[in-house]
Amino acid sequence: MTRESPFGASRLPVAVLGATGAVGQAFVRLLAGHPWFELIEVGASERSAGKSYAEATRWLGDSPIPAAIAGLTVQLCSPASIRAPVVFSALDAATAADAEPSFAKSDRIVLTNARNYRMEPDVPLVIAEVNPDHLDVIAAQRKRRGWSGAIVANGNCAAIVGAMALAPIQQRFGIRRVFAVTMQAVSGAGYPGVASLDILGNVIPYIKDEEPKIEEEFCKFLGLRESDHIQSAPMVVSAHTNRVAVEHGHTVCMSIELNRKGDASEVEAHLANWRGAPEATRLPSSPERPLVLTKEPDRPQPRRDVDAGAGMTVTVGRVRRDPILDIRLVALGHNVIRGAAGASVLNAELMASTGRIAKP
Ligand code: NAP
Repeated sequence: MTRESPFGASRLPVAVLGATGAVGQAFVRLLAGHPWFELIEVGASERSAGKSYAEATRWLGDSPIPAAIAGLTVQLCSPASIRAPVVFSALDAATAADAEPSFAKSDRIVLTNARNYRMEPDVPLVIAEVNPDHLDVIAAQRKRRGWSGAIVANGNCAAIVGAMALAPIQQRFGIRRVFAVTMQAVSGAGYPGVASLDILGNVIPYIKDEEPKIEEEFCKFLGLRESDHIQSAPMVVSAHTNRVAVEHGHTVCMSIELNRKGDASEVEAHLANWRGAPEATRLPSSPERPLVLTKEPDRPQPRRDVDAGAGMTVTVGRVRRDPILDIRLVALGHNVIRGAAGASVLNAELMASTGRIAKP
């Protein structure tokens, strides 16, 4: 059963910045009819501001734009135009650079998907089930930056999927080294993204700036919270990233060297039993299981597994001995839901249920 709303019978007003883009639209779908949050404002660029959301958006969903949102007037992404105390940001990095701190300075909680602040030691980079205690560095962030609000970051979409499979292994065995190869869906590049003539029937072995994000963010997700910063885990990660002709779902193949030796069946059993941090359970967006283990020899596959847990469950399979490191496996997750909008909404629910977001 889902936890009771910390806001009682009313809902907390929230806004989405970059609401017309691929991730922004996922936010709109997830927040329409949310039991704790009420989406009252949508923001985008000057090109869209002043139009209705329906007019400004090339809607990508299978179902129509939620009626309560279609008629909202798109606002500019500034704290003067957007009043909600909590803003979900699906802005690109160039726009987020100025916009997000201006909201944090103006007493707002910003849950961002942009890369700008992810690796700042006083900014929590959070997967609700993996490292909820990292949210405690918000106090140091406020003190250091003089903000009354805060920025809480989501990881890169492939980094979130891979880190969810690594977290139980790090907790039980410790991890020394990871070799990761990704196969990333076209929706990860936003809309319109990669030209169809470049990707159809093809694999592009390059995604700009992606490999360092995975290499650094794995270590931060699995790192330790010190009093005023996050100390990244001392693991070495090597990543190869590829764009493939898949609509949704990032696949991450990993070989892992363990600190404390364990064989594939021990690792597999631990993955199968892992439920994540208790405080991240029974929230409105919590999947029944954050991680699901498949024993099918040819799974996980994007077409069959991407919607597990309404897009919030990461599916792990092919756990086996690795002849160079110790263990290898395959993880798959929905890049737009678990890798972006769904993860941010879950982080906001976690913050609300633990008293870090209160009604103004
Ligand atoms: P997108 O489809 O290109 O959407 C970008 C959004 O930003 C649009 O709403 C656009 O509004 C708005 N925007 C652009 N310039 C602006 C400006 N100057 N002022 C205000 N708004 C502006 O991108 P996306 O794929 O949704 O990605 C959004 C963010 O999430 C990026 O930082 C990306 O790296 C990150 N991310 C994406 C994924 C994924 O799977 N796609 C996963 C994780 C993280 P207009 O319509 O008015 O131009």
